[in-house]
Amino acid sequence: MILESGDKLKNYMEILVDQVYSEVKEKYDICKSKKCENDIKAITLNSLPPMYFLSSTSEGEKKAFLLDRQQRITVLTKITEAVDIVCGKCEYKEKNEG
Ligand SMILES: [Zn+2]
Repeated sequence: MILESGDKLKNYMEILVDQVYSEVKEKYDICKSKKCENDIKAITLNSLPPMYFLSSTSEGEKKAFLLDRQQRITVLTKITEAVDIVCGKCEYKEKNEG
């Protein structure tokens, strides 16, 4: 059985990290550098287990994963840690702090 090219597996943890990161970006005054953003997401994703759903998984279950409160708190904590690592000494941060 050959998978269609459109059926690429999605890591839902990555989607969740993207979502939580955009919220963090709006709420807190964190560095807007695209380079830092990529590094922050990479570090965050490395410290979290990937999440792949089977084809039998319903949209509701996927949605529930993305909306899970405890899950989002865990991701938020990891993002905050990653921001400290990446932007602790990045050139953009210094400008923000004045
Ligand atoms: Zn930065």
